[in-house]
Amino acid sequence: MAPEPLIFEQGSAGRRSARLPECDVPVRDASELLAGRRLRKRLDLPEVSELDVVRHFTRLSHMNYSIDTGIYPLGSCTMKYNPKVNELCARLPGFARLHPLQPESTVQGALQVLFEIQSMLAQVAGMAAATVQPSAGAHGELLSLMIVREYHLSRGEPLRQVVLIPDSAHGTNPASAARCGFKVKAIPADARGLTDVAALARAAGPDTAAVMLTNPNTLGLFESDISQICRIVHDAGGLVYCDGANMNALLGLTRPGDMGFDVMHFNLHKTFSTPHGGGGPGCGAIAVGAALEPFLPVPVVTCGSDGAYSLCFDRPQSVGAVHSFYGAFLVALRAYAYMLTLGPEGLRNVAEMAVLNANYVRARLRGLFDIPQDRACMHEVVISATRQKNENGVRALDISKRLMDYGIHPPTNYFPLIVPEALMIEPTETESREALDVLCEALASIARECSETPEVVKGAPHTTAVSRMDETAAVRNLDVRWRPAGV
Ligand SMILES: *Cc1c(COP(=O)(O)O)cnc(C)c1O
Repeated sequence: MAPEPLIFEQGSAGRRSARLPECDVPVRDASELLAGRRLRKRLDLPEVSELDVVRHFTRLSHMNYSIDTGIYPLGSCTMKYNPKVNELCARLPGFARLHPLQPESTVQGALQVLFEIQSMLAQVAGMAAATVQPSAGAHGELLSLMIVREYHLSRGEPLRQVVLIPDSAHGTNPASAARCGFKVKAIPADARGLTDVAALARAAGPDTAAVMLTNPNTLGLFESDISQICRIVHDAGGLVYCDGANMNALLGLTRPGDMGFDVMHFNLHKTFSTPHGGGGPGCGAIAVGAALEPFLPVPVVTCGSDGAYSLCFDRPQSVGAVHSFYGAFLVALRAYAYMLTLGPEGLRNVAEMAVLNANYVRARLRGLFDIPQDRACMHEVVISATRQKNENGVRALDISKRLMDYGIHPPTNYFPLIVPEALMIEPTETESREALDVLCEALASIARECSETPEVVKGAPHTTAVSRMDETAAVRNLDVRWRPAGV
């Protein structure tokens, strides 16, 4: 289907959506209000009917892919379906229209939500306290590292300046550590795809501030040596940080605090029902063990013996504020509604289904693609297109593009970096068996095409509004501004 004209090329002179009666009150000329030089002489807006406008925007909305239209198996992103009831809660005027400067006595309900969601997150983490102030996972990482630094400084250990990070880590981990002023040392993965414990033991020492671990790691594998890893780092005087962006595999089954972690972040916009991917508001809540609680950012929500909630700024050891007011409140509210509707059993079921679904996909794709770590995985599975590349010159990127022709959003490509031609699939718990079958059958069909008609795969996508982009040119010469033809 050829793309239809953009709205600026539509319409014709004089076409209108509505005609209003002549204004019967005095009208001031725009030039009285705005300096003349701010006014354009001519403004070439399209002249369109109401139906032109409705069709244009409806057509655009149909070109969108979303979780409401199909499976979104983007690994490490947890693109699950978020129940609409949580959106409705976030829109309740009593919450949505609050002003952050209202007196505490008039926002007791909102403070109660914050107090309770933080206590629920601390329970899920198996830690002493939590804050929902950071607005993204990376922001939660940064805050956690600020707290780690304050902790070491408070103990008179300013020389702990190295953060150890496995080479399978999400790119935000080394970026956050460097941003916080730490030196980053990479720890390799071993043949099992897990953190190389011997290498970690060699690296940990008197300069270690912390190790940042993702568990399950980005290969979708549970770090089974986690207790030993925590012991090694603690014995060396360092702290252990858990990148819990993908808590989907652990909810209600096990707790990072019990494994020995001292601090962690959650991505409420991945695991706890805030839609993401469009750059909207998020929340990288963190949880901390008792030793780190005094360093949490202000304000801290407290509940007095009379049951009244208040915001406490009197925290002498706090790292300060890391967000205006109290962070993205409506994101915390969605997470609160999500947790209340699921309850402890429901949360546990989320993790069990997320793990089952990933393993179902792994079992169905076995034989079609290389699976570097083909054993029980957690919430996601990493497959590799190495065979397709060696035999037919088809890369992971081509396979992803071809999936779009099948009407399916591609998985994450080329991450983790330690797997060549990686395709990282995270089906999430909200997909049915039928939906997983559609994905697996499309991948099976593409695997056949790779050997029979590789050119079709290499030229994909063929059915989308825009075909294969020159991705290098798009990055180097980013152009997102519309200009009328001929200008
Ligand atoms: C998504 C993710 C992050 C970063 O979260 P943002 O909200 O995008 O900053 C960090 N670590 C892991 C493992 C992730 O999957």
